[in-house]
Amino acid sequence: MKISFFGAAREVTGSCFCVEAGGKRVLIDCGLQQGGHNGFGQAFPFHPGEIDYVVITHAHIDHSGRLPLLVKQGFKGSIYATEPTCKLLDLMLRDSAHIQELEALWSSRKKRRAGDPVIEPLYTMEDALKVFPLLVPCSYSKTINIDESVSFMFTDAGHLLGSAYVEMWLTEKDIVKKVVFSGDIGTDGHPMIRNPDYVDEADVVVMESTYGDRNHEHSFDTTAELAKVIENTLAKGGNVICPSFAIGRTQELLYHIREVKERGLVRSMPDFLVYLDSPLAKAATKLYSEELTDYLNDEAKALIQTGVQPLAFDGLRIVETAEDSKRLNDDRTPKVIISSSGMCDAGRIRHHLKHNLWRSECAVVFTGFQALGTLGRIIVDGVVSSVSLFGEEIAVRCQIHNFRSMSSHADREDLLRWINHYKKKPECVFVVHGEDQTCKNFALRLIEQDYKAIAPKYTSIYDLETFEPFFEGKELVRRSDLERSERRDSPVFQRLMFAGMRLVEVISRNKGGANKELAKFADQIDALSNKWDR
Ligand SMILES: [Zn+2]
Ligand SMILES: [Zn+2]
Repeated sequence: MKISFFGAAREVTGSCFCVEAGGKRVLIDCGLQQGGHNGFGQAFPFHPGEIDYVVITHAHIDHSGRLPLLVKQGFKGSIYATEPTCKLLDLMLRDSAHIQELEALWSSRKKRRAGDPVIEPLYTMEDALKVFPLLVPCSYSKTINIDESVSFMFTDAGHLLGSAYVEMWLTEKDIVKKVVFSGDIGTDGHPMIRNPDYVDEADVVVMESTYGDRNHEHSFDTTAELAKVIENTLAKGGNVICPSFAIGRTQELLYHIREVKERGLVRSMPDFLVYLDSPLAKAATKLYSEELTDYLNDEAKALIQTGVQPLAFDGLRIVETAEDSKRLNDDRTPKVIISSSGMCDAGRIRHHLKHNLWRSECAVVFTGFQALGTLGRIIVDGVVSSVSLFGEEIAVRCQIHNFRSMSSHADREDLLRWINHYKKKPECVFVVHGEDQTCKNFALRLIEQDYKAIAPKYTSIYDLETFEPFFEGKELVRRSDLERSERRDSPVFQRLMFAGMRLVEVISRNKGGANKELAKFADQIDALSNKWDR
């Protein structure tokens, strides 16, 4: 029995783990890398055709966004997820495919002008559509026997509608191991989402550590604080820009803004307008308000029963087309704009940032984790006086707010409570889904509490009985190196990165080829590496 770490290993995005038992390979999550900061890109370090099943913890893109690529490259098995996750994936993956196609088109236009080869999208809408027939919607708390060596159950993780821990039982030669994958662990008291459950037993735990090094402010009244920012900004004639994950964070923001309006907290402009500028967020909000209401928490259900729509209020405007979105930039009426992507690395939000970042009277409100290397992180860190958007240098002069309390991730205290809830200490805890230092520190903290804890490296493989590594994995690129490489990230360098990614893909496609051919290929790559390794 083995476990491999193919993503979110000493970084936050790209969740992807693989267990092997009884000759079967099961992938847990298949997320997109955001910020591209491990230096390994989106290529899989395995052959998708060799995976038997996939289990998805929740619909967020960093846990699901490479499913279309997996199918495109030969995966043919079933993909198990909770019923709400399946519904949200339908939206999420179409949107992601659309973004991939648009970005490739955009980059190719520039490349064509420069005489360079065009860029193929990572995957297309056609690839995304091939994922949906493979989805198997599952209920919470029901054991699913995939085959004689693998069974599992979903337990509510309280992080997003449909989010789950995966409790998995692996059997090989009469040995049974229970492995729990935490996915993303939620926090108590979030609007609409149920509080996270706990798990009692596990032999092995693979747990996230996004906020493993800090605690959120628990006394923070999000509605009141948000109202203050809106009031102050609109009074100055500025806009409040909210980069927001289309699924989850956006609905939470709408919930708070409805409360702001109900409590009359923005006195100078009580009828302020709120533009929801994301087709994906619009579709997800509809799901939250209609099909998925059974999965909401009791408070939200009670609101609905008394005739209140938790996500609807006067002054909410839905922006449909990209043209309407651009037109918002010419309208000088102070307003609130909620748009995606949440980490500002794609989508319509980038236009709004271009038109508002340089205006000192405006404000940008972040509500979710910003991964290293994303534009959102660069802005939140406040280390730059300008950013590059659509080939233009844009000064950062507006107010920047980071509402960490809105994060639906457990903080350090929550994570420790979650792991200490197990009746008996698991034999081993693998700490993942956190930045390099955070993973290492959180693992050390667990070791101090007498746990066996490991912060595995990217592509490392461990024995699930002895916890000895078969392969130690690859060292992440150091941040200082990355910063240097970021500065010289010229289009030609990017092309080189893509060429490298393609090489990895070509290698995986040659698996099973004749030894002589493979050796020749390896010799050629070695020769090339030797030439350029300086
Ligand atoms: Zn998540
Ligand atoms: Zn995540």
